[in-house]
Amino acid sequence: MVLAVLVMACDQRAPRQLALPAAPVDAPTAADAGVTVVHIEDAGPGFQRLAPPEQGDWQALHPEPGQTVAEFVRDRPHQLSRTRRTLYLMFVSGQPRDATPKLTVLASFVRAFFGLPVKLLPATSLKALGLRAPSPARLAAKRLRRRLAAKIPVDAAALLALTDVDLTSDSVGSVFGEASARLRVGVASVARLHLGFYVYGAPSNKKVVLRRSLTLLAHEIGHLLGIEHCTAYRCVMNGVASLRELDNLPAHVCPHDLRKLVLTSEFDERARYRRLAAFYVQHGLNHEAIWADARGRVDDPTGPVGPARP
Ligand SMILES: [Zn+2]
Ligand SMILES: [Zn+2]
Repeated sequence: MVLAVLVMACDQRAPRQLALPAAPVDAPTAADAGVTVVHIEDAGPGFQRLAPPEQGDWQALHPEPGQTVAEFVRDRPHQLSRTRRTLYLMFVSGQPRDATPKLTVLASFVRAFFGLPVKLLPATSLKALGLRAPSPARLAAKRLRRRLAAKIPVDAAALLALTDVDLTSDSVGSVFGEASARLRVGVASVARLHLGFYVYGAPSNKKVVLRRSLTLLAHEIGHLLGIEHCTAYRCVMNGVASLRELDNLPAHVCPHDLRKLVLTSEFDERARYRRLAAFYVQHGLNHEAIWADARGRVDDPTGPVGPARP
């Protein structure tokens, strides 16, 4: 049985042990079938507390305490500086499927979301990295991260590599992504974002794959900047144990995690929401566009902030 989880591979301070999800998730979701997924954005421009987990959800399988802003400030493994604040993105391995978003599109989202400079590195192959994916193409995420750590530019806040190779983790099996804040390197796989992964030859819905790619990138880069899984609100930093949970993630961060981003990047919250709304409009993500636009018009775009624990 193939299982997929979205993992923050913690750095060596506290290796996180992750149990296998209880439910099989190697199946397309309602979004793949063309059913409109109702997102949190439909509920208006506010934030919603995270409901108790259902069976098979990440928080049911891996109960986590969450992370306050004070804990983030205390524990973050590295702080950005004027000379080290660029996020790097790159592709690793073969030819991505047609529906995979272009890296330039993803870069403009990441730039808007994190308020940091984003640069692209040239695509490279597993072979060029001295790696070989067995057949069917699956690769240990840790091996890929280690090879990429040698490539991180001196001005990088972090490097995130996207690959079409399915990734695995020592402790959990298959993963959507894995990131080490300490090493500043993360990897994310787009393999399971495509319907064709589950149904041979089936075409992907481009918009579905785009939305999944955006939430996956926001989540993993959030980890790279030191943000841990969110347990207080529905938030893009919620732990994810299945494709269904990935589809249900809101595309935004909660008030706590927005404060962490402001502390990291020192952006203007309203300007950030405007940039995100413009991006979503351009790419037809209407729910997210309406939410971001409305959020950018409230008096206190960062709050109000409730308790950081469930
Ligand atoms: Zn995670
Ligand atoms: Zn959050």
